[in-house]
Amino acid sequence: MTRKLYYEDAYIRTFEARVLELRRVDGKSAVVLDQTAFYPTGGGQPNDRGEINGIPVTDVVKQEDEAILHVFDCEVSPARFGAPVTGKLDWQRRFDHMQHHTGQHILSAAFEEVAGARTVGFHLGVESVTIDLDKPHIKDADCEAAEEIANRVVFHNLPVRAWFPGDEELAEITLRKEPAVEGRLRVVRIEGFDAAACGGTHVCRTGEIGQIKVLKLERRGDKTRVEFRCGRRALHDYRQKNYAVNTLTAMLTVGAWELDAAVERLQEELKAARSAFNRAHGALLHYEGEAMLREAVRRGAVRVVRRVFTGDDGYDAGDLNKLAAQLAAAGDVVVLLGLAGAKAQLVLTRSEDLPHNVASALKRGLAVIDGRGGGRPGYAAGGGVSASPAQVEAALCAAEQALFEA
Ligand SMILES: [Zn+2]
Repeated sequence: MTRKLYYEDAYIRTFEARVLELRRVDGKSAVVLDQTAFYPTGGGQPNDRGEINGIPVTDVVKQEDEAILHVFDCEVSPARFGAPVTGKLDWQRRFDHMQHHTGQHILSAAFEEVAGARTVGFHLGVESVTIDLDKPHIKDADCEAAEEIANRVVFHNLPVRAWFPGDEELAEITLRKEPAVEGRLRVVRIEGFDAAACGGTHVCRTGEIGQIKVLKLERRGDKTRVEFRCGRRALHDYRQKNYAVNTLTAMLTVGAWELDAAVERLQEELKAARSAFNRAHGALLHYEGEAMLREAVRRGAVRVVRRVFTGDDGYDAGDLNKLAAQLAAAGDVVVLLGLAGAKAQLVLTRSEDLPHNVASALKRGLAVIDGRGGGRPGYAAGGGVSASPAQVEAALCAAEQALFEA
């Protein structure tokens, strides 16, 4: 059985040990030591990392037989482990875990005190740190109050003790949460504030946690997920957000407290500008249609309107359809419109009273640009392929020829 140095002193960063056993786990080399400061994944806390005799330890896991495996990513020969070996923790990672784990105890106790909400889940990851509360609605004011309490506990720099009490001593301690594990209980007590059963690693005074900051509340069914940060990660988060706010206030030339109103104003302006543009664009389209009709080419009793748009003129496929409908409504008109570009479009239509079949004419046009589409005798459209204005013009000419060759 390995002596758990992390339970005796969470601040041990380097230690000497003897290798008891070499094992294989998922095809990787691993060692069991006679004592270790490496914390194995468990109780919501991720494993430590670091190195043993200079070889990176990428994972630490506790097996069913209670053996703590220090896992290496590379193949390791037994010769590398002449007794004794030296273990060295990635201290920044471990200390971050200690800050967040202790911070979690405090925040959980604070939410219970303020909102009567009990913590039913804890996740400590690289990207995200969360607790889940057993209530669906947590008021913003309650969240702020919990945050205030939590930070006051930090400012008071209270002692934190983690130990295995005997049965008599344990009976005297009121635990915040019923322990989920069997066997000997480890208690983590924040003096005068909270006591909970926990197997993780913690700081020894609350001041070391630094800031405890709730980032957001998210409702999850009948629970609430609280995203929070402690210590250096809270600082990083603040730095990032401060940068974002400073950038935005400079761009919008407003104070930070006016940002939401400024963005709302911009959104309203954009909405008004869009609707003004749509009105003007619609009017322009209408006049364009009238001009095209005046310039239509007569073929017997029929007027033919043929036009290629390049895409640079600000018209899209939707505009082509509107134009086509307007032109056809004028009576005795055959309409052949094209849009060049990465997704070229052909739109063919005619006035209702005319006999021409634009669907079969479209096929001839699409054959020129190798596009796809179809329609009815009175309206057909297609394209979808890249085509230059000249290619689209050639396609429309072929379609027109098909319409009038009968
Ligand atoms: Zn803990």
